[in-house]
Amino acid sequence: MPLVSMRQLLDEAAKGGYGVGAFNVNDMEQIQAIMMAAKETNSPVIAQASRGARKFAEDLYLFKLIEAAAELNPDIPIAMHQDHGNSFETCKSAIALGFTSVMMDGSLKEDGKTPTTFEENVEVTRRVVDYAHERGVTVEGEIGVLGGVEDGHGAGGTGLEHITDPDQAVEFAERTGVDALAIAIGTSHGAYKFTKKPDGSVLKMDVLIQIHKRLPHTHLVMHGSSSVPKDLQDIVNQYGGHLKQTWGVPVEEIQLGIKNGVRKINVDTDNRLAITGAIRKVFAETPEKFDPRDYLTPARAAMAKVVAQRMREFGQAGHAQDYKAIPIEEMAAGYKSGKLDTRPSVAAR
Ligand SMILES: [Zn+2]
Repeated sequence: MPLVSMRQLLDEAAKGGYGVGAFNVNDMEQIQAIMMAAKETNSPVIAQASRGARKFAEDLYLFKLIEAAAELNPDIPIAMHQDHGNSFETCKSAIALGFTSVMMDGSLKEDGKTPTTFEENVEVTRRVVDYAHERGVTVEGEIGVLGGVEDGHGAGGTGLEHITDPDQAVEFAERTGVDALAIAIGTSHGAYKFTKKPDGSVLKMDVLIQIHKRLPHTHLVMHGSSSVPKDLQDIVNQYGGHLKQTWGVPVEEIQLGIKNGVRKINVDTDNRLAITGAIRKVFAETPEKFDPRDYLTPARAAMAKVVAQRMREFGQAGHAQDYKAIPIEEMAAGYKSGKLDTRPSVAAR
């Protein structure tokens, strides 16, 4: 199957009442792990690359890996998404490369650290929406400021994090026309999210529910939604790692989100932990080994296991063959005609 638009994938998820995990790709083993899991569970796929990934792998290597995944798996819809685009130019270059979806994170300035004003966010996001939709490409925006740092991106620890205001979310969706919206409800990037199991006082599911009620046509996105399971932390520490005990976002909370409009769930930390644990185990148990395949094979399998589990938990498992890819030009025509317009004033009609 050719790469599909993320909008199509999320519209289908909304129809089916499930969520789709968005997993980060930096190298061949990670995309292979995602595809192994997708094949095993028969799931549609969102593969995403941060700016850090594009730098690490180089744009062309990275994109060709995704193309290979699409060619080798003709029955599985795959959307390729730019995670945390920091400027119009970053999004434009991703679209030029062939990404079918971009995130314009206008909640922060181009440095990826300093919060912007609401007006600045609207302006840059609107510009990306105009450019992307003309080309059939999906746009995710962000309103509110997430905690933690992801690939050097985020206002972590600065005290500048803030929970999304539902009124602002509605105004933002109306003025930008984004397909998907990342909201801040107390999650954060990275492994160190919570110092105890999060309850209602830290994870604002009520805010999410309010936003979904008012924006039923905008797909909601949860960032920083690794669950950071204790068993994965333990493997890393058992074989020489030094992770402080930490808590992530419980899967039940994500599932509650999915019942309330969350269609894309970003998971990266769990995969990082699985990979690192598996590699450490090989190094610790068989220090005589030095063939990279000896540790990359179990690392890839460990990530595939986590991804397959999340695909089942988010409900996307079994849905890969529900639909055929809509050509990206047809998506462009859909935006032009207003058929795909998500703005609350229009979509409600
Ligand atoms: Zn993020």
